[in-house]
Amino acid sequence: MERTELFKRSIGEDTDVVHKEMYTLTTESGKSYSLRPEATAGVMRAYIEKALNASTQVARLFTTGPMFRHERPQKGRLRQFHQINCECIGSQSPYADADMICMLLHFLRAINVRDVALELNSLGCAECRPKFTSALKDYFSHIASDELCEDCRRRITSNPLRVLDCKNERCKAHVAKAPVIADFLCQACTDHFSVVTETLKAENIAYHQNPNLVRGLDYYTRTTFEVVSTGIGSQSAVAGGGRYDGLIKALGGPDVPGIGFACGMERLAMLMEKKEPPRPDFFMAVLEPDAFPRAFALIQELRTNGLKGCMNLQPQSVKSVFRQADKSLATYCLILGSDELAQNAVTVKSMSTSSQTTIAQDALVQHLQEALKKG
Ligand SMILES: [Zn+2]
Ligand SMILES: [Zn+2]
Repeated sequence: MERTELFKRSIGEDTDVVHKEMYTLTTESGKSYSLRPEATAGVMRAYIEKALNASTQVARLFTTGPMFRHERPQKGRLRQFHQINCECIGSQSPYADADMICMLLHFLRAINVRDVALELNSLGCAECRPKFTSALKDYFSHIASDELCEDCRRRITSNPLRVLDCKNERCKAHVAKAPVIADFLCQACTDHFSVVTETLKAENIAYHQNPNLVRGLDYYTRTTFEVVSTGIGSQSAVAGGGRYDGLIKALGGPDVPGIGFACGMERLAMLMEKKEPPRPDFFMAVLEPDAFPRAFALIQELRTNGLKGCMNLQPQSVKSVFRQADKSLATYCLILGSDELAQNAVTVKSMSTSSQTTIAQDALVQHLQEALKKG
């Protein structure tokens, strides 16, 4: 929970999130608090409060946890959802931007999220963006007002950048012909963006430059990005972020640049490809009631030595025990029947080739370790 004011100033009052989606309460003394709809604002508040800039040149921070938005519940939209949030505060370097993007993509690969695409844009800076904004205002003001949605008619004066990501089809048709920010970037912004894109190219990271990828507030500058899923179903954002060089100052802190992103955990969970369950190394098939004490001691010894598996826990028909061994998906079935018990041996059967050998019980650990290493 944070002061409502913090979200109004960081996310912006003219956004759906702040306008319609926050859970807000007012205390008896008249102070207004809201459940966090996103994490960055709270991280910035903490950064300023603890004066982290004094002790750390570049602060690399992350947080995970629940966020809250009062939205119409529907598939893929939850009123309490979870985010992973990363921030890199204190550097203006384009390598910070590339580093954050690469880290995000590494992470997605590591958790087996495939079929994603990177969208990228630069929003310019305090020097060059106003020229773009006024070109946008000029362009949209020449469009008959009934050609744009009600929100966009208001945005033309209050926040023209936000018209660019309007989902309304009529608005989109006009946005397609609108001026693009790339034509307005100053030299410093052009240089910054080209180091980001060259670094990504050198890492073989494909991206799509999307001129309509915006964040509508003044303190969001330069690089913005989104990772969208391209799998079956609608294109949806998995993660999004960007540079916010003016944000900390706007919140009353020092003039420190930063860049960050947020990643929705529920959406990630939906996209994670199902991994094969890990296969146990063995299943001990105990075929003789008298063999249980020996079998139990053997599986404890195997586990102590790092091997994974279990045994049937009571006498059953041979057929039923072998069915359990099959179902366990173990690599080896270790058979302990009356013959093996009499010889202090175990029959080791490969479940993939069905070949089997009989091994002395005291050589079992070493035999299995070597056989598993060979694959
Ligand atoms: Zn610029
Ligand atoms: Zn619109």
